[in-house]
Amino acid sequence: MIVGGGISGLFTAYFLANRVDPEKILLVERSYIGSGSTLRCATGIRASFTTEEHIVLMKRSIEYWLELSRELGFYLRRGGYVWLLQEEHLDAFKEYSQLHNRFGVPTRIVDREFVAELVPSINQDMFAAALHDPLAMQADPFEVIHTLTRFLKSTGVKIQEFTEVTKLVLDHERKNVEAVVTNKGEIPAENIVVAAGTGTKNLLKSVGVDAPLEPLPKHILITMRYRRLFDPLLIDWASNSYIVQSRYGGFIVGAELAENTSGEAINRIDYMPHAVRIWSKFFKWFPKVYILRYWTGYYVMTPDHHPVYGPVEGVDGVYIAAGFSGHGFMLGPVTGYVTSRWVIDGDPGIAQAKNLMLARFTMGRLIREKAVIG
Ligand SMILES: Cc1cc2nc3c(=O)[nH]c(=O)nc-3n(C[C@H](O)[C@H](O)[C@H](O)COP(=O)(O)OP(=O)(O)OC[C@H]3O[C@@H](n4cnc5c(N)ncnc54)[C@H](O)[C@@H]3O)c2cc1C
Repeated sequence: MIVGGGISGLFTAYFLANRVDPEKILLVERSYIGSGSTLRCATGIRASFTTEEHIVLMKRSIEYWLELSRELGFYLRRGGYVWLLQEEHLDAFKEYSQLHNRFGVPTRIVDREFVAELVPSINQDMFAAALHDPLAMQADPFEVIHTLTRFLKSTGVKIQEFTEVTKLVLDHERKNVEAVVTNKGEIPAENIVVAAGTGTKNLLKSVGVDAPLEPLPKHILITMRYRRLFDPLLIDWASNSYIVQSRYGGFIVGAELAENTSGEAINRIDYMPHAVRIWSKFFKWFPKVYILRYWTGYYVMTPDHHPVYGPVEGVDGVYIAAGFSGHGFMLGPVTGYVTSRWVIDGDPGIAQAKNLMLARFTMGRLIREKAVIG
């Protein structure tokens, strides 16, 4: 059984269905498919991170994204990422770039003229140089979610929406999981993948497991559609903000606003002027764009900004795929791969994934990711 119908749960079902009888797989979702963070995300996929774990996993995820978009027929656009940097950021990003290159991600530091060729209307006075990641890309979360759901149903995977799991149930020795309680009754299950985003922490608590997962409210907007002005996703590292032109031409803008973990994601009217002010400095046309929609969502954060993967020690049959700290969409395919391998083979199939198990927090083996955006 998989709890959670976001990108992580769906890709886990996809990879499991390649190996076991799809009719034995049940995915339950408390609301509608994609209703958690997945359909609120900014569409970005990249491998330009600052740890071996993230770079290796994301690179593999990108390979799956390419393969699966061909196989399942969904849109992917490789526009790259451009990290706009100030003088004081350059030394750190030169080091990150060396690390990327070591693991086969061909980023490099580029000058302002290079950026102006990719983004002709940008104000070059606003940055000193940039890091270019040509592997990075965008997908369309709505299309991916719906394509995957249709495909999974066609193979026989059972998907049950509006079914909320309220707790996991252990056997009488309290060693193995044997069922879940839902708002629609108890469902027996031998193996349970908890890919429930913001709901993960409470479900684990129901079997006495404490996971350091904290929801952090995030803000994002999209403008009306305009003709295509540039392909890459741009990051202003100084303000921790990003802008990307969507598949349909609207500009998606995310920018960091001070928020508390575990606070509620409520609309803040100060978000729109904040985001517009940042990007108006880079583009003189930006104050004139029409904002179409503004929404909020959560990053589910961990203390080291890496996900929690794999089996839970001491509770046989429970697996976690959560805590993506703002990177769960791009990790979706590789999350599905490593989680399905863990369930079926007892091994994730990618060595670096083992460093991301829950036990790292009690053993003090944290791996810090520095390139978290938004
Ligand atoms: C503004 C914003 C921008 C983002 N941009 C990006 C980006 O560009 N790239 C990127 O990679 N990531 C991005 N992210 C992060 C990304 O959206 C998440 O990391 C990812 O969607 C997590 O997917 P998931 O399937 O693990 O969780 P979710 O999509 O949250 O899915 C979990 C599901 O579990 C369900 N659920 C919860 N509790 C229960 C329960 N008890 N019973 C049954 N079902 C339950 C929820 O309803 C939900 O649908 C962004 C997030 C936000 C908010």
